[in-house]
Amino acid sequence: MARIIGGIACSHTPTIGFAVDRDKQDDPVWKPIFENFQPIRDWLDQKKPDVLFMIFNDHVTSFFFDHYSAFSLGIDTQYAVADEGGGARDVPPVGGHSALSQHIGASLMADEFDMSFFQDKPLDHGCFSPLSILCKRDPNWNVQIVPLAVGVLQFPIPNAKRCYKLGQALRNAIESYPEDISVAIVATGGLSHQVHGARAGFNNTDWDKQFLELFEKDPVALTNLRLAEYVELGGMEGAEIIMWLIMRGALSASVKKIHQSYYLPSMTGIATAIYENQDTDISEEKREQRLAQHRQHMQSELAGVGDIPGTHPFTHAASIKAYRINKFLHSLIKPENRKRFLEDQEASFIEAKLTEQEADLIRRRDWDGMIKYGVIFFMLEKLGAVIGVSNLHIYAAMRGQTLEEFQATRNAPGALYSVAGKGNLSWNKSS
Ligand code: FE
Repeated sequence: MARIIGGIACSHTPTIGFAVDRDKQDDPVWKPIFENFQPIRDWLDQKKPDVLFMIFNDHVTSFFFDHYSAFSLGIDTQYAVADEGGGARDVPPVGGHSALSQHIGASLMADEFDMSFFQDKPLDHGCFSPLSILCKRDPNWNVQIVPLAVGVLQFPIPNAKRCYKLGQALRNAIESYPEDISVAIVATGGLSHQVHGARAGFNNTDWDKQFLELFEKDPVALTNLRLAEYVELGGMEGAEIIMWLIMRGALSASVKKIHQSYYLPSMTGIATAIYENQDTDISEEKREQRLAQHRQHMQSELAGVGDIPGTHPFTHAASIKAYRINKFLHSLIKPENRKRFLEDQEASFIEAKLTEQEADLIRRRDWDGMIKYGVIFFMLEKLGAVIGVSNLHIYAAMRGQTLEEFQATRNAPGALYSVAGKGNLSWNKSS
């Protein structure tokens, strides 16, 4: 079973990554940052966690306001560094523990947290700034991550209590993962700062100290603060500190603080801290029982669905496996992409880096083969619309029937349709 070996808290200000990239460890201005992170580096060196669960917010880099989510969990196998303007940092991609991500996602959803899930997205300084000072690269990272991006920028956002509750559910989610791996939870953000408006440059070191104290000893008190109180006490952008409560919720009620530091060089109170669990309230046997029950609870919604003939739930596993081909078919919603596809489909397969198997499924219009491979139906109807095939043709083909045989099963056999708004409706002519 997976074990949570502790929680790390630290700021994620871009200054950290900036100092790391420019080797500023001996520069008196930056030295305290490195010194404050050193105990965490030592702790990680000693504990060697397999996975870091990274809690951070994206700074409108990979997630824009065309679709803004509260809790976005990465399910990918790899995450590159995002370009935030001026080119991406020269830092290699970090591996993602996709199986653990999928398990955590399923567990949190079973516990009624409506998560969103992402793949194929680079991560910005919220994740990579702390990661690059915490972990070794030689040249590749010595750890895998599971990233959780919290939407704290466009209100309404989750409140402190919701973050804490998510953390409590996260504990079950991680501990019920069946493999023997160790996980450290890294909460990032804060402390006090404000970067916009006439209040830019606001800090409150007294509040920062008080927050650190409460965080360790009385986190529930912090869950009772309203967002406006966080803004007043710690600055508008400093209110992101509620993300720390996700980590705190995933630890035992009482924790052992191994390390804490605080340094305010410029705009943001940079804190670092390590907490370990002090959990003696439940026997190992009882814990295992409880986690076995939780695994059953996680599986209960979809239990048996795989035995229903001709039914293929579109799971994270399918979505990850078939991401490239789904992405290719989704790209056909743009006129220039479908023009390219219709003019030279083989070239468009190569450009999309489809495997030969994927290209062949599309080439042969193997509708049921695509479904079995992991293509979601709604990409099939897009492809149908592009090449002039009705939805009914696709349904019939998936059932292994002729169009006429399938139509005979409908109350209105003559109904033929597709999602094509206009353009290629050639099936109208053949029918
Ligand atoms: Fe931030």
